[in-house]
Amino acid sequence: MTDETDLHLHSDCSDGVLPPSQLVTLLAQAGIKRFALTDHDTTAGLAEAATAARLHGLTAISGIELSATWRGRTIHVIGLNIDPCAPLLVTCIQHLQLLRQQRIQEITHRLDRLGAPGQAVQMQLNTLHVPTRTHVARALFELGAVTSIASAFDRWLGDGKPAYVAAEWPDLAHIVTRIVSAGGTAVIAHPLRYRLSAGQRRQMLAEFKTSGGTGLEIVSGNLAPHQIETSLGLALRTGLDGSVGSDCHDPSIPWHRLGRLAKLPTSATPIWRQWS
Ligand code: AMP
Ligand code: MN
Ligand code: MN
Ligand code: MN
Repeated sequence: MTDETDLHLHSDCSDGVLPPSQLVTLLAQAGIKRFALTDHDTTAGLAEAATAARLHGLTAISGIELSATWRGRTIHVIGLNIDPCAPLLVTCIQHLQLLRQQRIQEITHRLDRLGAPGQAVQMQLNTLHVPTRTHVARALFELGAVTSIASAFDRWLGDGKPAYVAAEWPDLAHIVTRIVSAGGTAVIAHPLRYRLSAGQRRQMLAEFKTSGGTGLEIVSGNLAPHQIETSLGLALRTGLDGSVGSDCHDPSIPWHRLGRLAKLPTSATPIWRQWS
């Protein structure tokens, strides 16, 4: 009972575990027909994903998940059907990757000061174009400094924890215009995951729409039915089309299994109507 669609997926080009081609093989096996690879702040995996999609007869949508700031909070914006070569988008991505590299250095310095092996983590991540907190957590785990990825976030890396560094991503409105200028459709990812009051969330969505955003991820990861109802209400009230995405980083994790997303509620306008 799915839409055979998954428009939010990660590969090892950002913080997913599988190379794009292996991810696409699993998508095909799971009965997905249309997908978007949406790595954090990079389009590096899109060509490989498109080639694999042709092999399996799937439709690949060019995607990305960009980091943005709205009133001091990080908001993730999915760009769908983007032209990865659009100059303004390319410049924006380069800037985001530089911010990420600088931020990871700050995080690893903090870890050193906290008695954790920050420098060893930094050595492991030096060559990455898109280092994320997930990579830091994995490195800490591999170095034996934590007993699980989750505990790395709980102890050090989660929001407000001692090694957390707030990133100054570009403004939400700026990120939306970069997606639109690349011919893409901007979608707010996992709208219930931000620490915003209901009023702030409404304002954020209104500004997103004014900037040119047109979509909201109504079916996101493994949301419970009542949460899907909540995000459906947000989309309908704001006048945004609905997207569906697993946000899968590792298909071997049971709650991330591919091809099991709920169907988009029938009262939502599917975002894919915009291009099919
Ligand atoms: P960053 O964009 O570098 O701040 O890293 C954010 C990424 O870390 C998210 O996309 C998730 O994949 C992952 N993440 C965030 N919070 C947690 C958590 N509590 N446990 C596991 N992974 C997390
Ligand atoms: Mn991630
Ligand atoms: Mn996200
Ligand atoms: Mn994601």
